[in-house]
Amino acid sequence: VRRLILILGDQLTAGLGALADIDPQRDHALLAEVMEEASHVPHHPKKIALIFSAMRHFAEILRAQGMQVHYVTLDDPHNSGSLPGELQRWTQQLNPAEVHLTECGDWRLEQSLRHCGVPIHWHQDSRFLCTREAFAAWAQGRKQLRMEFFYREMRRTSGLLLNPDGTPEGGAWNFDADNRKALPKGVHPPAPLRIEPDAITTEVLELVSRRFAHHYGSLDGFDYPVTAEQAERLWQHFLANGLADFGDYQDAMADDEPFLFHSRISAALNIGLLDLRRICAEVEAAYRTGKVPLNAAEGFIRQLIGWREYVRGIYWLRMPEYAEGNRFGNSRALPEFYWTGRTRMNCMRQTIGQTLEHAYAHHIQRLMVTGNFALLAGIAPKATCDWYLAVYMDAFDWVELPNTLGMVMHADGGYLGSKPYCASGQYIKRMSNHCQGCSYKVSESTGESACPFNALYWHFLMRHREPLERNPRMGMVYRNLARMNEARQQALWDWGERLLARLDAGEML
Ligand code: SF4
Repeated sequence: VRRLILILGDQLTAGLGALADIDPQRDHALLAEVMEEASHVPHHPKKIALIFSAMRHFAEILRAQGMQVHYVTLDDPHNSGSLPGELQRWTQQLNPAEVHLTECGDWRLEQSLRHCGVPIHWHQDSRFLCTREAFAAWAQGRKQLRMEFFYREMRRTSGLLLNPDGTPEGGAWNFDADNRKALPKGVHPPAPLRIEPDAITTEVLELVSRRFAHHYGSLDGFDYPVTAEQAERLWQHFLANGLADFGDYQDAMADDEPFLFHSRISAALNIGLLDLRRICAEVEAAYRTGKVPLNAAEGFIRQLIGWREYVRGIYWLRMPEYAEGNRFGNSRALPEFYWTGRTRMNCMRQTIGQTLEHAYAHHIQRLMVTGNFALLAGIAPKATCDWYLAVYMDAFDWVELPNTLGMVMHADGGYLGSKPYCASGQYIKRMSNHCQGCSYKVSESTGESACPFNALYWHFLMRHREPLERNPRMGMVYRNLARMNEARQQALWDWGERLLARLDAGEML
Protein backbone atom coordinates (compact mmCIF):
# COMPACT_ATOMS: atom_id res chain seq x y z
CA VAL A 1 0.00 0.00 0.00
CA ARG A 2 1.47 3.31 -1.06
CA ARG A 3 -0.95 5.64 0.69
CA LEU A 4 -3.71 5.13 3.23
CA ILE A 5 -6.15 8.04 2.97
CA LEU A 6 -8.48 8.57 5.91
CA ILE A 7 -11.70 10.27 4.79
CA LEU A 8 -13.92 11.78 7.47
CA GLY A 9 -17.71 11.96 7.42
CA ASP A 10 -17.67 15.64 6.45
CA GLN A 11 -15.04 15.17 3.73
CA LEU A 12 -17.14 13.44 1.09
CA THR A 13 -15.81 15.41 -1.86
CA ALA A 14 -14.25 13.93 -4.98
CA GLY A 15 -11.71 16.77 -5.29
CA LEU A 16 -10.66 16.64 -1.64
CA GLY A 17 -7.03 17.59 -0.90
CA ALA A 18 -6.04 14.15 0.38
CA LEU A 19 -7.59 12.50 -2.69
CA ALA A 20 -5.48 14.48 -5.16
CA ASP A 21 -2.88 12.48 -7.13
CA ILE A 22 -4.25 9.12 -6.05
CA ASP A 23 -3.06 5.94 -7.66
CA PRO A 24 -6.11 3.61 -7.47
CA GLN A 25 -3.83 0.58 -7.86
CA ARG A 26 -1.71 1.29 -4.81
CA ASP A 27 -3.66 3.75 -2.65
CA HIS A 28 -6.33 2.70 -0.17
CA ALA A 29 -9.11 4.77 1.38
CA LEU A 30 -10.41 4.29 4.89
CA LEU A 31 -13.83 5.41 6.15
CA ALA A 32 -15.10 4.51 9.60
CA GLU A 33 -18.40 4.98 11.44
CA VAL A 34 -17.30 5.44 15.05
CA MET A 35 -19.25 5.78 18.27
CA GLU A 36 -17.06 8.57 19.62
CA GLU A 37 -18.00 10.94 16.78
CA ALA A 38 -21.66 9.91 16.80
CA SER A 39 -22.13 10.37 20.53
CA HIS A 40 -19.72 12.91 22.06
CA VAL A 41 -22.85 15.03 22.06
CA PRO A 42 -26.23 13.34 21.53
CA HIS A 43 -26.46 14.06 17.81
CA HIS A 44 -29.90 14.10 16.20
CA PRO A 45 -30.62 10.66 14.71
CA LYS A 46 -31.27 12.21 11.28
CA LYS A 47 -27.82 13.81 11.36
CA ILE A 48 -26.15 10.50 12.20
CA ALA A 49 -28.15 8.79 9.44
CA LEU A 50 -27.19 11.49 6.94
CA ILE A 51 -23.49 11.16 7.64
CA PHE A 52 -23.35 7.37 7.75
CA SER A 53 -25.44 7.02 4.60
CA ALA A 54 -23.45 9.67 2.73
CA MET A 55 -20.21 7.95 3.82
CA ARG A 56 -21.45 4.59 2.54
CA HIS A 57 -22.48 6.13 -0.78
CA PHE A 58 -19.15 7.90 -1.11
CA ALA A 59 -17.29 4.65 -0.46
CA GLU A 60 -19.27 3.08 -3.32
CA ILE A 61 -18.25 5.93 -5.64
CA LEU A 62 -14.58 5.47 -4.76
CA ARG A 63 -14.88 1.72 -5.33
CA ALA A 64 -16.50 2.35 -8.71
CA GLN A 65 -13.43 4.42 -9.59
CA GLY A 66 -11.30 1.36 -8.90
CA MET A 67 -10.04 2.36 -5.50
CA GLN A 68 -9.51 -0.12 -2.70
CA VAL A 69 -11.79 1.06 0.13
CA HIS A 70 -11.84 -0.16 3.71
CA TYR A 71 -15.20 0.70 5.24
CA VAL A 72 -15.77 0.11 8.94
CA THR A 73 -19.43 0.01 9.92
CA LEU A 74 -20.60 0.93 13.39
CA ASP A 75 -21.61 -2.67 14.05
CA ASP A 76 -18.25 -4.13 12.96
CA PRO A 77 -17.05 -6.18 15.96
CA HIS A 78 -13.46 -5.00 15.33
CA ASN A 79 -14.48 -1.32 15.36
CA SER A 80 -12.36 0.39 18.02
CA GLY A 81 -14.95 3.15 18.45
CA SER A 82 -12.73 6.13 17.60
CA LEU A 83 -11.04 7.54 14.51
CA PRO A 84 -7.54 7.55 16.05
CA GLY A 85 -8.20 3.93 17.05
CA GLU A 86 -9.23 2.99 13.52
CA LEU A 87 -6.28 4.81 12.01
CA GLN A 88 -3.88 2.93 14.28
CA ARG A 89 -5.57 -0.42 13.61
CA TRP A 90 -5.54 -0.06 9.81
CA THR A 91 -2.03 1.37 9.71
CA GLN A 92 -0.78 -1.70 11.54
CA GLN A 93 -2.75 -4.00 9.28
CA LEU A 94 -1.87 -2.41 5.92
CA ASN A 95 1.53 -0.94 6.73
CA PRO A 96 1.16 1.92 4.22
CA ALA A 97 4.19 3.96 3.19
CA GLU A 98 2.23 7.15 3.93
CA VAL A 99 -0.98 8.19 5.67
CA HIS A 100 -2.89 11.16 4.23
CA LEU A 101 -5.62 13.27 5.74
CA THR A 102 -7.34 16.56 4.98
CA GLU A 103 -7.57 19.10 7.85
CA CYS A 104 -10.48 18.35 10.17
CA GLY A 105 -13.49 20.53 10.91
CA ASP A 106 -13.19 19.85 14.62
CA TRP A 107 -10.25 20.99 16.76
CA ARG A 108 -10.82 18.13 19.25
CA LEU A 109 -10.65 15.48 16.54
CA GLU A 110 -7.69 17.04 14.77
CA GLN A 111 -5.74 17.13 18.03
CA SER A 112 -6.47 13.49 18.77
CA LEU A 113 -5.41 12.45 15.26
CA ARG A 114 -2.26 14.58 15.39
CA HIS A 115 -1.27 12.85 18.63
CA CYS A 116 -2.31 9.28 17.91
CA GLY A 117 1.19 8.12 17.05
CA VAL A 118 0.62 7.74 13.30
CA PRO A 119 2.62 10.24 11.19
CA ILE A 120 0.17 12.00 8.86
CA HIS A 121 0.63 14.01 5.65
CA TRP A 122 -1.87 16.83 6.15
CA HIS A 123 -3.70 18.52 3.28
CA GLN A 124 -5.38 21.91 3.31
CA ASP A 125 -9.15 21.86 2.94
CA SER A 126 -9.44 23.52 -0.46
CA ARG A 127 -13.25 23.49 -0.28
CA PHE A 128 -13.06 26.83 1.53
CA LEU A 129 -12.09 30.10 -0.16
CA CYS A 130 -9.96 31.29 2.73
CA THR A 131 -7.29 29.03 4.21
CA ARG A 132 -6.64 29.03 7.95
CA GLU A 133 -3.33 30.78 7.27
CA ALA A 134 -4.86 33.46 5.01
CA PHE A 135 -7.45 34.25 7.67
CA ALA A 136 -4.79 34.53 10.35
CA ALA A 137 -2.85 36.93 8.10
CA TRP A 138 -5.99 39.02 7.53
CA ALA A 139 -6.76 39.12 11.27
CA GLN A 140 -3.17 39.99 12.25
CA GLY A 141 -2.92 43.38 13.91
CA ARG A 142 -6.68 44.08 13.87
CA LYS A 143 -8.02 45.01 17.29
CA GLN A 144 -11.53 43.96 16.36
CA LEU A 145 -12.60 41.64 13.60
CA ARG A 146 -15.71 42.46 11.63
CA MET A 147 -17.40 40.16 9.16
CA GLU A 148 -18.29 42.98 6.81
CA PHE A 149 -14.64 43.85 6.10
CA PHE A 150 -13.66 40.23 5.72
CA TYR A 151 -16.60 39.70 3.38
CA ARG A 152 -15.47 42.54 1.12
CA GLU A 153 -12.05 40.89 0.90
CA MET A 154 -13.72 37.64 -0.12
CA ARG A 155 -15.79 39.45 -2.76
CA ARG A 156 -12.62 40.98 -4.16
CA THR A 157 -10.72 37.69 -4.06
CA SER A 158 -13.51 35.67 -5.64
CA GLY A 159 -14.68 38.36 -8.05
CA LEU A 160 -18.29 37.55 -7.14
CA LEU A 161 -20.81 40.34 -7.83
CA LEU A 162 -17.99 42.69 -8.69
CA ASN A 163 -17.92 45.28 -11.47
CA PRO A 164 -14.91 45.37 -13.82
CA ASP A 165 -13.57 48.41 -11.94
CA GLY A 166 -13.61 46.50 -8.64
CA THR A 167 -16.68 48.22 -7.21
CA PRO A 168 -19.54 46.10 -5.86
CA GLU A 169 -22.45 45.30 -8.13
CA GLY A 170 -25.40 47.59 -7.37
CA GLY A 171 -23.21 50.20 -5.68
CA ALA A 172 -23.14 48.59 -2.21
CA TRP A 173 -21.49 45.57 -0.65
CA ASN A 174 -24.43 44.59 1.47
CA PHE A 175 -28.19 44.71 0.91
CA ASP A 176 -29.16 43.27 4.27
CA ALA A 177 -31.54 46.13 4.99
CA ASP A 178 -33.75 44.83 2.14
CA ASN A 179 -33.81 41.32 3.61
CA ARG A 180 -35.94 41.77 6.71
CA LYS A 181 -39.50 41.38 5.53
CA ALA A 182 -42.10 39.34 7.38
CA LEU A 183 -44.04 36.83 5.31
CA PRO A 184 -47.17 38.55 3.93
CA LYS A 185 -50.47 36.69 3.76
CA GLY A 186 -50.85 35.01 0.39
CA VAL A 187 -47.11 34.43 -0.19
CA HIS A 188 -46.49 30.70 -0.12
CA PRO A 189 -43.09 29.02 0.03
CA PRO A 190 -42.34 26.29 -2.52
CA ALA A 191 -43.09 22.70 -1.59
CA PRO A 192 -39.90 21.12 -0.24
CA LEU A 193 -38.12 18.56 -2.41
CA ARG A 194 -38.29 15.07 -0.94
CA ILE A 195 -35.56 12.58 -1.72
CA GLU A 196 -36.70 9.07 -0.95
CA PRO A 197 -34.25 6.84 0.94
CA ASP A 198 -32.60 4.15 -1.20
CA ALA A 199 -31.49 0.71 -0.02
CA ILE A 200 -28.26 1.99 1.58
CA THR A 201 -30.07 4.76 3.45
CA THR A 202 -32.81 2.36 4.55
CA GLU A 203 -30.19 0.07 6.04
CA VAL A 204 -28.55 3.02 7.84
CA LEU A 205 -31.92 4.21 9.16
CA GLU A 206 -32.43 0.79 10.69
CA LEU A 207 -28.96 0.90 12.28
CA VAL A 208 -29.52 4.40 13.68
CA SER A 209 -32.97 3.59 15.06
CA ARG A 210 -31.48 0.55 16.79
CA ARG A 211 -28.37 2.20 18.23
CA PHE A 212 -29.43 5.82 18.82
CA ALA A 213 -33.06 5.57 19.92
CA HIS A 214 -32.11 7.38 23.14
CA HIS A 215 -30.97 10.53 21.28
CA TYR A 216 -33.50 13.35 20.94
CA GLY A 217 -35.08 13.92 17.54
CA SER A 218 -37.14 11.97 15.06
CA LEU A 219 -35.81 9.69 12.35
CA ASP A 220 -39.18 9.54 10.59
CA GLY A 221 -39.54 10.99 7.11
CA PHE A 222 -35.81 11.14 6.31
CA ASP A 223 -35.68 12.88 2.93
CA TYR A 224 -32.23 14.41 2.78
CA PRO A 225 -29.70 14.07 -0.07
CA VAL A 226 -26.87 11.64 0.65
CA THR A 227 -24.95 11.86 -2.64
CA ALA A 228 -23.56 14.72 -4.71
CA GLU A 229 -26.11 13.94 -7.41
CA GLN A 230 -29.02 14.16 -4.96
CA ALA A 231 -27.59 17.32 -3.38
CA GLU A 232 -27.50 18.81 -6.87
CA ARG A 233 -31.22 18.12 -7.25
CA LEU A 234 -31.91 19.92 -3.97
CA TRP A 235 -29.73 22.81 -5.10
CA GLN A 236 -31.44 23.15 -8.49
CA HIS A 237 -34.84 23.00 -6.77
CA PHE A 238 -33.83 25.98 -4.64
CA LEU A 239 -32.32 27.91 -7.55
CA ALA A 240 -35.54 27.52 -9.55
CA ASN A 241 -38.07 27.93 -6.74
CA GLY A 242 -36.59 29.56 -3.65
CA LEU A 243 -33.71 31.92 -4.39
CA ALA A 244 -35.72 34.78 -5.91
CA ASP A 245 -37.63 35.28 -2.63
CA PHE A 246 -34.84 34.16 -0.32
CA GLY A 247 -33.55 37.70 0.15
CA ASP A 248 -36.83 39.38 1.08
CA TYR A 249 -37.96 36.68 3.51
CA GLN A 250 -34.73 35.25 4.85
CA ASP A 251 -35.44 36.57 8.35
CA ALA A 252 -39.16 35.73 8.35
CA MET A 253 -40.71 33.01 10.48
CA ALA A 254 -44.17 31.46 10.33
CA ASP A 255 -46.14 28.78 12.16
CA ASP A 256 -45.71 25.33 10.60
CA GLU A 257 -43.40 26.60 7.86
CA PRO A 258 -40.06 25.00 8.70
CA PHE A 259 -38.22 25.86 5.47
CA LEU A 260 -39.83 28.96 3.89
CA PHE A 261 -37.51 30.14 1.08
CA HIS A 262 -34.36 28.63 2.57
CA SER A 263 -32.23 26.29 0.52
CA ARG A 264 -31.68 23.50 3.12
CA ILE A 265 -28.31 22.83 1.46
CA SER A 266 -26.16 23.65 4.50
CA ALA A 267 -25.72 20.04 5.66
CA ALA A 268 -24.95 18.79 2.14
CA LEU A 269 -22.46 21.62 1.69
CA ASN A 270 -20.82 21.01 5.07
CA ILE A 271 -20.24 17.32 4.41
CA GLY A 272 -18.82 18.02 0.97
CA LEU A 273 -21.62 17.10 -1.43
CA LEU A 274 -21.77 20.55 -3.04
CA ASP A 275 -19.05 22.84 -4.33
CA LEU A 276 -19.07 26.31 -2.78
CA ARG A 277 -17.46 28.10 -5.72
CA ARG A 278 -19.83 26.62 -8.27
CA ILE A 279 -23.01 27.35 -6.32
CA CYS A 280 -21.93 30.95 -5.73
CA ALA A 281 -21.20 31.30 -9.46
CA GLU A 282 -24.65 29.92 -10.26
CA VAL A 283 -26.29 32.40 -7.88
CA GLU A 284 -24.43 35.25 -9.57
CA ALA A 285 -25.45 33.92 -13.00
CA ALA A 286 -29.10 33.77 -11.87
CA TYR A 287 -28.85 37.44 -10.93
CA ARG A 288 -27.04 38.51 -14.09
CA THR A 289 -29.64 36.79 -16.28
CA GLY A 290 -32.44 38.58 -14.45
CA LYS A 291 -33.87 35.51 -12.72
CA VAL A 292 -33.35 36.75 -9.16
CA PRO A 293 -32.98 40.21 -7.60
CA LEU A 294 -29.66 41.49 -6.29
CA ASN A 295 -30.70 41.44 -2.61
CA ALA A 296 -31.38 37.69 -2.91
CA ALA A 297 -28.13 36.90 -4.73
CA GLU A 298 -25.97 39.10 -2.52
CA GLY A 299 -27.66 37.88 0.67
CA PHE A 300 -27.08 34.25 -0.27
CA ILE A 301 -23.48 34.77 -1.35
CA ARG A 302 -22.76 36.73 1.84
CA GLN A 303 -23.90 33.78 3.96
CA LEU A 304 -21.46 31.53 2.12
CA ILE A 305 -18.33 33.54 1.45
CA GLY A 306 -18.90 36.02 4.28
CA TRP A 307 -20.30 34.46 7.45
CA ARG A 308 -19.40 30.85 6.74
CA GLU A 309 -15.76 31.54 5.95
CA TYR A 310 -15.48 34.19 8.68
CA VAL A 311 -16.63 31.89 11.49
CA ARG A 312 -14.33 29.13 10.27
CA GLY A 313 -11.41 31.55 10.27
CA ILE A 314 -12.17 32.66 13.83
CA TYR A 315 -12.54 29.07 14.99
CA TRP A 316 -9.08 28.01 13.82
CA LEU A 317 -7.49 31.27 14.89
CA ARG A 318 -8.81 31.14 18.44
CA MET A 319 -9.16 27.47 19.39
CA PRO A 320 -8.91 25.96 21.93
CA GLU A 321 -9.38 28.90 24.32
CA TYR A 322 -12.31 30.21 22.24
CA ALA A 323 -14.51 27.37 23.52
CA GLU A 324 -14.01 28.58 27.11
CA GLY A 325 -15.47 32.06 26.50
CA ASN A 326 -18.14 33.10 28.99
CA ARG A 327 -18.21 36.87 29.09
CA PHE A 328 -21.36 37.11 31.20
CA GLY A 329 -20.31 34.33 33.58
CA ASN A 330 -23.47 32.33 32.80
CA SER A 331 -24.00 28.99 34.47
CA ARG A 332 -27.72 28.21 34.22
CA ALA A 333 -28.60 24.73 32.94
CA LEU A 334 -30.28 24.38 29.57
CA PRO A 335 -34.03 24.02 30.22
CA GLU A 336 -35.45 20.58 29.54
CA PHE A 337 -37.84 22.00 26.92
CA TYR A 338 -34.92 22.53 24.53
CA TRP A 339 -34.89 18.74 24.19
CA THR A 340 -38.63 18.15 24.15
CA GLY A 341 -40.29 21.25 22.72
CA ARG A 342 -42.73 21.20 25.65
CA THR A 343 -43.18 24.91 26.34
CA ARG A 344 -46.08 27.35 26.22
CA MET A 345 -43.98 29.85 24.24
CA ASN A 346 -45.22 29.28 20.70
CA CYS A 347 -42.11 30.67 18.99
CA MET A 348 -39.90 28.29 21.00
CA ARG A 349 -42.29 25.38 20.48
CA GLN A 350 -42.30 25.99 16.73
CA THR A 351 -38.53 26.29 16.44
CA ILE A 352 -37.67 23.42 18.77
CA GLY A 353 -40.46 21.27 17.34
CA GLN A 354 -39.19 21.55 13.77
CA THR A 355 -35.63 21.08 15.02
CA LEU A 356 -36.56 17.78 16.65
CA GLU A 357 -38.46 16.74 13.53
CA HIS A 358 -36.13 17.89 10.76
CA ALA A 359 -32.79 18.63 12.49
CA TYR A 360 -33.21 22.02 10.85
CA ALA A 361 -34.14 25.59 11.69
CA HIS A 362 -33.07 28.65 9.75
CA HIS A 363 -30.60 31.24 11.00
CA ILE A 364 -33.09 33.69 12.50
CA GLN A 365 -34.91 30.94 14.37
CA ARG A 366 -31.58 29.79 15.77
CA LEU A 367 -30.34 33.30 16.54
CA MET A 368 -33.44 35.20 17.60
CA VAL A 369 -35.66 32.52 19.13
CA THR A 370 -33.77 29.65 20.79
CA GLY A 371 -30.51 31.62 20.85
CA ASN A 372 -32.07 34.84 22.09
CA PHE A 373 -33.83 32.96 24.88
CA ALA A 374 -30.60 31.24 25.95
CA LEU A 375 -28.79 34.59 25.99
CA LEU A 376 -31.52 36.42 27.93
CA ALA A 377 -31.95 33.54 30.39
CA GLY A 378 -28.20 33.32 31.09
CA ILE A 379 -27.79 29.70 30.01
CA ALA A 380 -24.22 28.39 30.24
CA PRO A 381 -22.53 28.86 26.85
CA LYS A 382 -21.11 25.32 26.86
CA ALA A 383 -24.55 23.75 27.37
CA THR A 384 -25.99 25.97 24.64
CA CYS A 385 -23.19 25.13 22.21
CA ASP A 386 -23.54 21.42 22.89
CA TRP A 387 -27.26 21.62 22.15
CA TYR A 388 -26.73 23.37 18.82
CA LEU A 389 -23.98 20.93 17.88
CA ALA A 390 -26.25 18.00 18.69
CA VAL A 391 -29.57 18.97 17.16
CA TYR A 392 -28.75 20.55 13.80
CA MET A 393 -27.93 18.41 10.81
CA ASP A 394 -25.43 20.93 9.46
CA ALA A 395 -23.67 21.57 12.78
CA PHE A 396 -19.96 20.83 12.85
CA ASP A 397 -17.74 22.34 15.49
CA TRP A 398 -15.98 24.87 13.20
CA VAL A 399 -19.28 26.45 12.23
CA GLU A 400 -21.45 25.77 15.27
CA LEU A 401 -19.10 27.01 18.00
CA PRO A 402 -18.39 30.57 16.76
CA ASN A 403 -22.00 30.99 15.67
CA THR A 404 -23.35 29.92 19.06
CA LEU A 405 -20.68 31.03 21.51
CA GLY A 406 -19.80 34.23 19.66
CA MET A 407 -22.86 35.34 17.77
CA VAL A 408 -25.73 33.92 19.85
CA MET A 409 -24.26 34.09 23.36
CA HIS A 410 -21.81 37.01 22.89
CA ALA A 411 -19.62 34.91 25.18
CA ASP A 412 -16.40 35.78 23.31
CA GLY A 413 -16.63 39.37 24.55
CA GLY A 414 -17.53 40.81 21.16
CA TYR A 415 -14.69 39.31 19.15
CA LEU A 416 -16.97 37.92 16.44
CA GLY A 417 -19.85 40.38 16.57
CA SER A 418 -20.00 43.95 17.80
CA LYS A 419 -23.11 43.61 19.97
CA PRO A 420 -25.32 40.92 21.49
CA TYR A 421 -28.29 39.87 19.38
CA CYS A 422 -30.80 40.35 22.18
CA ALA A 423 -34.41 41.24 21.58
CA SER A 424 -37.76 41.32 23.32
CA GLY A 425 -40.87 39.56 22.06
CA GLN A 426 -41.53 42.57 19.81
CA TYR A 427 -38.87 41.40 17.36
CA ILE A 428 -40.46 37.94 17.13
CA LYS A 429 -43.88 39.53 16.69
CA ARG A 430 -42.58 41.71 13.85
CA MET A 431 -40.90 38.84 12.00
CA SER A 432 -43.47 36.07 12.47
CA ASN A 433 -47.07 35.12 13.18
CA HIS A 434 -46.05 33.06 16.19
CA CYS A 435 -47.45 35.48 18.77
CA GLN A 436 -50.98 35.15 17.40
CA GLY A 437 -51.08 31.49 18.39
CA CYS A 438 -49.28 31.87 21.71
CA SER A 439 -50.69 31.47 25.19
CA TYR A 440 -48.60 34.47 26.26
CA LYS A 441 -49.35 38.05 25.29
CA VAL A 442 -46.49 39.80 23.55
CA SER A 443 -47.97 43.18 24.54
CA GLU A 444 -47.46 42.40 28.24
CA SER A 445 -44.16 42.30 30.08
CA THR A 446 -45.00 41.33 33.64
CA GLY A 447 -47.54 38.90 35.07
CA GLU A 448 -48.57 35.35 34.32
CA SER A 449 -49.81 36.03 30.79
CA ALA A 450 -46.82 38.22 29.78
CA CYS A 451 -44.43 37.09 27.03
CA PRO A 452 -41.34 35.81 28.91
CA PHE A 453 -39.00 37.32 26.33
CA ASN A 454 -40.02 40.82 27.45
CA ALA A 455 -39.05 40.81 31.13
CA LEU A 456 -36.04 38.60 30.42
CA TYR A 457 -34.84 41.12 27.82
CA TRP A 458 -34.93 44.03 30.26
CA HIS A 459 -33.52 41.88 33.05
CA PHE A 460 -30.61 40.95 30.77
CA LEU A 461 -29.93 44.61 29.97
CA MET A 462 -30.10 45.60 33.63
CA ARG A 463 -27.94 42.76 34.93
CA HIS A 464 -25.25 43.38 32.30
CA ARG A 465 -25.48 47.16 32.27
CA GLU A 466 -21.75 47.10 32.86
CA PRO A 467 -20.17 46.67 30.26
CA LEU A 468 -22.97 46.78 27.64
CA GLU A 469 -24.00 50.37 28.30
CA ARG A 470 -20.61 51.55 27.03
CA ASN A 471 -21.19 49.84 23.67
CA PRO A 472 -22.21 52.59 21.23
CA ARG A 473 -24.49 50.14 19.38
CA MET A 474 -26.44 49.56 22.61
CA GLY A 475 -26.94 53.27 23.34
CA MET A 476 -30.52 53.42 22.16
CA VAL A 477 -31.78 50.48 24.20
CA TYR A 478 -30.24 51.89 27.37
CA ARG A 479 -31.82 55.26 26.64
CA ASN A 480 -35.17 53.44 26.33
CA LEU A 481 -34.54 51.78 29.67
CA ALA A 482 -33.63 55.11 31.26
CA ARG A 483 -36.95 56.58 30.10
CA MET A 484 -38.87 54.08 32.25
CA ASN A 485 -39.68 55.16 35.79
CA GLU A 486 -38.09 53.32 38.66
CA ALA A 487 -41.21 51.40 39.62
CA ARG A 488 -41.48 50.03 36.06
CA GLN A 489 -37.84 49.03 36.01
CA GLN A 490 -38.24 47.31 39.37
CA ALA A 491 -41.34 45.43 38.18
CA LEU A 492 -39.49 44.16 35.11
CA TRP A 493 -36.53 43.15 37.24
CA ASP A 494 -38.75 41.32 39.72
CA TRP A 495 -40.66 39.46 37.02
CA GLY A 496 -37.42 38.54 35.30
CA GLU A 497 -36.13 37.16 38.61
CA ARG A 498 -39.29 35.12 38.98
CA LEU A 499 -38.95 33.63 35.48
CA LEU A 500 -35.31 32.73 36.09
CA ALA A 501 -36.23 31.12 39.41
CA ARG A 502 -38.82 29.03 37.59
CA LEU A 503 -36.20 27.90 35.09
CA ASP A 504 -33.90 26.97 37.96
CA ALA A 505 -36.70 24.96 39.53
CA GLY A 506 -37.10 23.03 36.27
CA GLU A 507 -40.53 24.49 35.62
CA MET A 508 -41.90 24.84 32.14
CA LEU A 509 -42.37 28.33 30.77
FE1 SF4 B 1 -42.81 34.00 21.58
FE2 SF4 B 1 -43.62 35.85 23.31
FE3 SF4 B 1 -44.62 35.79 20.88
FE4 SF4 B 1 -45.25 33.89 22.61
S1 SF4 B 1 -45.76 36.04 22.77
S2 SF4 B 1 -44.71 33.60 20.46
S3 SF4 B 1 -43.34 33.69 23.73
S4 SF4 B 1 -42.51 36.19 21.41
